[in-house]
Amino acid sequence: MRSRTANRSGIVIRRRVTPAGDIIVTLLTPQGKLKAVARGGVRGPLSSRLNLFHHVGMQVYQGPQNDLASVQQAVLEGALPTLAQPERYAFAHLLAEFADALYQEGEFSEQAFELFAGALRGVAHQPDPEWVALVMSYKLLALAGFIPQTARCARCAQDHPTHPDPLGGQLLCGGCAALPAYPDPSLDFLRNVARRTVRASMDSPLPAEQRPALWRALERFVTVQIGSVHSWRQLVPTSTALSA
Ligand code: ZN
Repeated sequence: MRSRTANRSGIVIRRRVTPAGDIIVTLLTPQGKLKAVARGGVRGPLSSRLNLFHHVGMQVYQGPQNDLASVQQAVLEGALPTLAQPERYAFAHLLAEFADALYQEGEFSEQAFELFAGALRGVAHQPDPEWVALVMSYKLLALAGFIPQTARCARCAQDHPTHPDPLGGQLLCGGCAALPAYPDPSLDFLRNVARRTVRASMDSPLPAEQRPALWRALERFVTVQIGSVHSWRQLVPTSTALSA
């Protein structure tokens, strides 16, 4: 049996401290997701480096028996301090949970890494972090192969559905729906966001009043297709609408 040391670089998408003072981190890297433990990390210099959303370079050691790689060294390669602002933090956190839920360990995905890194930068710097998060959430989902069906009613398969699907987050036809139809710009978003470029979507943000319904649809779709994502409750200003 052989042990080995490797160098990996990625963004911390999950961080947990154990009662023993170990820090368990999950990184999204261009080579996929990586989980590792910094033993006794809370009492040393690694504590401030292995923070959520930090881009870090790590030397990890994979022992012959240990399932979890252990962090030998870590250097900070990049940070986005504005993500600490409350109006940005919740969206960054949601995207990180998304990435964690969507991508598996060892699954090579340079594209996913680039998309996620771009999403975090957007949430950190753009004047409208909510819009960045909404667009990038749908893009991350699409990249992982989850695309809401918009060509046919989710219940009866009729063409050109235009109404919300409150159970599955897809679309329903007028005959199957209990809720009024989406406004045209929201429909255009749902039908095209997955294939449209991020830049094109950024250039035409939807008005704030149309967004809660899209967040709700996203929440339903993700819950049905992938499982629950804890950060929904932290989302401002749609949290009350989502928990209803
Ligand atoms: Zn129908």
